[in-house]
Amino acid sequence: MFLKRIELQGFKSFADKSIINFDAGVIGIVGPNGCGKSNINDAIRWVLGEQSVKSLRGNSMSDVIFNGSTQRKAVNTAEVTLVFDNSKHHLNIDYDEVEITRRLHRVSGDGEYYINKTPCRLKDIHNLVMDSGLGKDSLSIISQGNISSFADAKPEERRALFEEAAGVSKYKKRKQESLSKLERMEDNLSRVEDIVLELERQIQPLQKQAKKAELYLDKKAQLEEIEISVIVDDIEKYMYALEDMKEKLFSIENQKTLQETTIQVEDLKNQELKKNMYQLDIEITRLQEEYTEIINRISQLEKQKVELDEKRKYALEFASKKEKIKEIKALMEEARFEYKNRQEKLSRYVEELNLCKQNHMQIEMKYSETQQLKKQEESLFHKLQNRKEVLQGLINQPFQHQNGVKTVLENKSVLTGILGVVSQILQPESRFEDALANALGGAVYHIVSENEVAARNAIQFLKKNATGRATFLPLNILKPRYIHEDAKTIAKSDDGCLGIMEEFVHTDSKFEVLKQSLLGNVFVCKDLHSANRVAKLLKYKYKIVTLDGDIVHTGGSMTGGKAKNSQTPLSLQRDMNRIMQQIEGQQLKLQNAMEQLEGWSLKLQKSNEEMVQLKLAIAQQEPIVSLKQATYEKLRLEYLQLDPEESIDDSISFDNELIINLDKYNMEKEDLLSQMRQKRELRMKQGGDLERKESSIRNIRRELQILLTEEKTILQKQVKMETLLENLLERLSSTYEMTYEYASKQKKEIDIEEAKKQVSILRREISAIGNVNLDAPQEYQDLKERFEFLLDQKEDLLSAKNKILTAIQEMDSTMVNQFQTMFDKINNNLNEVFQSLFGGGKARLFMVEPENVLETGIDIEVQPPGKNIQNIRLFSGGEKALIAICVLFSILRARTIPLCIFDEVEAALDQANVERFARYINKFKEESQFIVVTHRPGTMAQCDTLYGVTMQQSGVSQLLKVHLEDAMNIIRK
Ligand code: ATP
Ligand code: MG
Repeated sequence: MFLKRIELQGFKSFADKSIINFDAGVIGIVGPNGCGKSNINDAIRWVLGEQSVKSLRGNSMSDVIFNGSTQRKAVNTAEVTLVFDNSKHHLNIDYDEVEITRRLHRVSGDGEYYINKTPCRLKDIHNLVMDSGLGKDSLSIISQGNISSFADAKPEERRALFEEAAGVSKYKKRKQESLSKLERMEDNLSRVEDIVLELERQIQPLQKQAKKAELYLDKKAQLEEIEISVIVDDIEKYMYALEDMKEKLFSIENQKTLQETTIQVEDLKNQELKKNMYQLDIEITRLQEEYTEIINRISQLEKQKVELDEKRKYALEFASKKEKIKEIKALMEEARFEYKNRQEKLSRYVEELNLCKQNHMQIEMKYSETQQLKKQEESLFHKLQNRKEVLQGLINQPFQHQNGVKTVLENKSVLTGILGVVSQILQPESRFEDALANALGGAVYHIVSENEVAARNAIQFLKKNATGRATFLPLNILKPRYIHEDAKTIAKSDDGCLGIMEEFVHTDSKFEVLKQSLLGNVFVCKDLHSANRVAKLLKYKYKIVTLDGDIVHTGGSMTGGKAKNSQTPLSLQRDMNRIMQQIEGQQLKLQNAMEQLEGWSLKLQKSNEEMVQLKLAIAQQEPIVSLKQATYEKLRLEYLQLDPEESIDDSISFDNELIINLDKYNMEKEDLLSQMRQKRELRMKQGGDLERKESSIRNIRRELQILLTEEKTILQKQVKMETLLENLLERLSSTYEMTYEYASKQKKEIDIEEAKKQVSILRREISAIGNVNLDAPQEYQDLKERFEFLLDQKEDLLSAKNKILTAIQEMDSTMVNQFQTMFDKINNNLNEVFQSLFGGGKARLFMVEPENVLETGIDIEVQPPGKNIQNIRLFSGGEKALIAICVLFSILRARTIPLCIFDEVEAALDQANVERFARYINKFKEESQFIVVTHRPGTMAQCDTLYGVTMQQSGVSQLLKVHLEDAMNIIRK
């Protein structure tokens, strides 16, 4: 006994809860038409998962819920529970007792299934029932009027019955699942294969690109590795060379200035010389004329003298002794006159020479004094100039100690938006340098940028190169600061207040806001005293700076004094201005000293010449004096011999006019001659000088020309080299984002010449590589991974597919086996069952396509006794029912079916066949349980237990166990 109990509530006509306990092998259900018997059959099939509304005799599933009657309201839920004894494990579950429940709600249309009170799915019910023989395609549950459908079915439809009997449904279902799995897998596989193909198409070009990019990066890294060293080396070389050029240019400049001044000075001197020479020529001509005149006079006088001499000669030869003495005396006196005259002249010269010597010594003293002065002025001048050089150096590198500022300025070309440093942008009026420097404080070195982005970039750059810090003032966010008008008026009432700092500072209009932001609220005062006064007046609300650079801060604290080395770019400029002024003054002084020295030098020269001339005149005069003395001495002796008593009176006056004049003119002539000679010599000397000087000027000009050419060449080279240097620095900063200082730390000790060759080779190779996709290596890697992953997946899918195919094959062969075996068994039984039910004849099942066991339709060949084989559809209703029953009993003989429900299957049979049918059922009741809805007494008589169904309360079925007689009564009514 398999089905132990049915509980119905709200199902079709069973409105009230009805419980049917089965306790026997063959159970008969009897009752009048329309009382609800078939509803029990329906209920069982419904619980076992029937989904076909039609086979449940409704239009919609909710038709199974009790719909109400004249006396009863409709219910909202139908619920049926079947309780099975599963000790023989007909149901596919481990429990010995199985309770299956199905419930349906009218309003929501929701249905629920339970196995042993646990909610489950319809599928679970199907699985549970599968291959138990209770399947909807089996003959085990036959609904009313359905019995002939076996005979009427097409062979293909009939096949399901045998599959159910052979228990291959589970394989079939599994195969179906496997097939759909296979289909899905094949879909996946083809998708994967499509992608693999597509990737295969992409992977090769991408691999090429990746290799290219790797090559490029490799070369680039190699290049970077050595190029930095090469660039640094080049920069060093260029810097040295530029330094060298600068020095050369400096020295050329000096030489040039020297030569140009020399030329100028010499030219001027030459002009002077020429003028002198011209003057000399005039003088010489004049002297010449004077000389001619003197000569004429002398020759006239000489004529008179000759006459005089003739007379004397005669007197000396022929006159008396007295006469003779007189003549000799005259001659002697003449000689004495000449001698004395000459002597006088000589001593005059000597006197003059002495005077001249004294004068010369004085001039010499003056000259050396002036020379000393000039030296002093010169050294002062050089000192100043040196100081200027040093200052210029400092001014040229104003941010030497502000590494960050220096780096940013040096890389201004790469760091866009950097406008400059505050100290360069704000220009103080003179006198206000210290005030400005102290008003700004640290802000002197702040860098002004266009905006915050520019500042951020620069800070990033400093970080990367680790070259110091800097503060930035983004121009776009600066706000001007002001001083209240009242405060201005109050402050300016004090004489010591000069105004607001910004009034004394000039800048480009673009930087007005910067100026106002930094200086708009700072006062300037003359000195600390006035600053204190003004601060007090302003209640210490504003910062005040003094011209000296002292500060009175807001609140009143004060800063001042003098730092040891407080050079700011501003103070440097101020110092420079001062030095320039001093240099200018010193230059004037030096020039003055030089001019004086030149004057003294000229005087020295002149006095020298004078001395030479005097010495010459003395040397000329001395022999003349001796000659004249000798002539006089001789004449005196002669005279003394003639008249020894006569004393010679030195003092006697001499009055021979002729002789006096002659002597005078002769002396004048000598003077003239000496003057002329002197002038001529001078003229000659000057001519030579001029010649020499001009040739030396020409030489200097030639040298100057050479210097100029040299300078030009160096300048050209310098410009070229500076551009090269700039390019290299630019390359460092733009390509490698490095400052020169940072890069020089990276420099390696390598053979630079070799490295240069390497660089140009690498450059060529890199440019030969052409366009490069730098993402390619990563893309290739990703693609490759994906490709390999998909290949793996494809492999997995293929092997899974093969496994499924093998499984399907195995299932197929199991199914073929099982099906064939069961089919043969049933077929073997059929003939016997047929003969016993039909009382003879033959029946045979056959496969429509025996070669295709898996799909073949099943047909049946029947030959009732005495009849020819004919089409099964042509048989009578009873015959058709009997054939179906035959097949069912053949199946029951071949395998156990735990439960069979027959709803009036024997209705069309005659009395004898009903009895045979009923006996047959009895034969199987040990193995199978039978629930038989029947009107036939023959069947009822064979039932172990009978249930009567009534519908006393109109429209609601009720059930009770009845005895055979009651049952008979019921059908007789
Ligand atoms: P027969 O001997 O003629 O085959 P039966 O006892 O098998 O009769 P059933 O077909 O089981 O009769 O029952 C049919 C009766 O069930 C109908 O007369 C109908 O009144 C009743 N019925 C069917 N569905 C419902 C429903 N949803 N609600 C109420 N009653 C219903
Ligand atoms: Mg019925």
